[in-house]
Amino acid sequence: MMEKVPRLLMNAVLVLCCFLPSLGHAEGRVYSLKDYKDGAAFLESIPLPGGRDSRARRDLTALFSAYPDHCAGIELSEENRLYVVMNKGRRLVYEDGKGKSFREKLEDPDLQDMLEQEYRPGPVEEDPPEDFDPGRIRVTAFFQAVYGETRDEVVGNCLETPFLGERVPFNVRGGARDALRKVDEELSALLRANPPLAKHVRPLGGSFSWRWIDGTRRLSPHAFAAALDLNPARGAYWRWGTGTDPGEARRRYPREIVRAFEKHGFIWGGKWYHYDLMHFEFRPELLFSHRISAEAPKPAPWAPRRQSRASNEQSRPGKETPGSWKIED
Ligand SMILES: [Zn+2]
Repeated sequence: MMEKVPRLLMNAVLVLCCFLPSLGHAEGRVYSLKDYKDGAAFLESIPLPGGRDSRARRDLTALFSAYPDHCAGIELSEENRLYVVMNKGRRLVYEDGKGKSFREKLEDPDLQDMLEQEYRPGPVEEDPPEDFDPGRIRVTAFFQAVYGETRDEVVGNCLETPFLGERVPFNVRGGARDALRKVDEELSALLRANPPLAKHVRPLGGSFSWRWIDGTRRLSPHAFAAALDLNPARGAYWRWGTGTDPGEARRRYPREIVRAFEKHGFIWGGKWYHYDLMHFEFRPELLFSHRISAEAPKPAPWAPRRQSRASNEQSRPGKETPGSWKIED
């Protein structure tokens, strides 16, 4: 739902959100990815708090692997606080040291909060516990740095993209549009083989829309043209529904459709406690993070990921160099 917020007010809030995260830290040592032969050597050289098997290492591996053209380096401040330095110079704190409730993480997350809950690709077997919404906590400034700071910049980064007979604007940065084209190829073949699936897809609910998330003052992932809604009539949304868990609808949603998206770096809002069954969003860092964790001891199903002892950079995707993003079939 587009709220009638004057553009000026929206821009003022966004400018504040852009620059506040950069303030209030002392200059420290900066490690630039370009100075190393690959991402593994880069991370190896940084004395990360918690050492080589830390959650920080896993999270940073996921971010740098998923967005190699946009994450330029890491700054370790004099107080031993980590910042991710984006390629235009903006610094984003990895862990702000604040204890936060789930709601506070939604409102004011750091990068660690954004990657805390593990998104698991594959079939839905159980309903998520309360507030289990992997991917719904987003550091807006991170996505602004990747996809565009303002509406005009995002528009300039979009190209019309064929998708199942329609054309949708999608962001070329971060690999989002290329990924959507691959999903289109898979879904086109799927729908030819199984035409009744089309009712779950069409008419599309939309892709780009410069707006707040309904009921909030946080930019929607649709504002970055890196998310797509399929047929809203087949995809319940928690704010529009009764508020009760959609249970059966979630489990009966065609898993082939979800799989086609997940395979190319998208997450599905149907896996959230605050469900959004029509919603698919390009979040390769979450799928990377899952793969990196895949050989670590498994927490209980759906539980937020705990700090694990084994992030297995030696044998798992953490070993990949930036730019080698690929989801296994
Ligand atoms: Zn959506």
